[in-house]
Amino acid sequence: MVDTILNTLHNAFSDLSYSDTYTQAQKCTRCPLATTRTKVVFNQGPVPCKLMLIGEAPGADEDIQGIPFVGRAGQLLTKMLEAVEIFRPNDIYITNTLKCRPPNNRTPLQSEIDYCQDFLLKQISEVQPRILILVGSPAMKTILHPDESISKIRGKWFNLTVDYMSESLRVMTIFHPSYLLRNASKEQGSPKWLTWMDLKEIKKTLDTL
Ligand code: SF4
Repeated sequence: MVDTILNTLHNAFSDLSYSDTYTQAQKCTRCPLATTRTKVVFNQGPVPCKLMLIGEAPGADEDIQGIPFVGRAGQLLTKMLEAVEIFRPNDIYITNTLKCRPPNNRTPLQSEIDYCQDFLLKQISEVQPRILILVGSPAMKTILHPDESISKIRGKWFNLTVDYMSESLRVMTIFHPSYLLRNASKEQGSPKWLTWMDLKEIKKTLDTL
């Protein structure tokens, strides 16, 4: 069995409704990011939802709008999802490991991820996805704790045991769209091409569920 935080979805908000947890997040001061954020970026998408995506953290545009993946990287992600006929906001629930923007978009600290983890577990337990997409290395490390780098892990299915369904939760890591913006080639074998292959595989599997 993969050692993952999803081995138990019990969390500090287990006794609260989803909407009460959302309200708690909007006024959360669990970590120092509360003092620098503009808006808490909780999610976009329906609850429950077969397909869930977890990114890293809000950036500047997300911090202003309060919606995940709306900046340049988010627009690329949206285009790539649409190319495999996955449409926001109805087909996919989108969130991040952190709900508040780290200053200057620095990499999240492990302490911040730990403080925010209860919100993420609550979201997964309410959304009850059948497929989970991990976008970028921090999301991958938060859920899968792999020893290997993202270039080795991406595109592989992991089957995780969760307590809301008898079947395994299928988890796949893909490259972060901000990485794809810095690596624009679409040639076969390029990060963009590989991500395209990964999203096609995810859509093909989604259609069987
Ligand atoms: S990042 Fe998470 S834990 Fe930190 S203040 Fe925001 S909602 Fe709370």
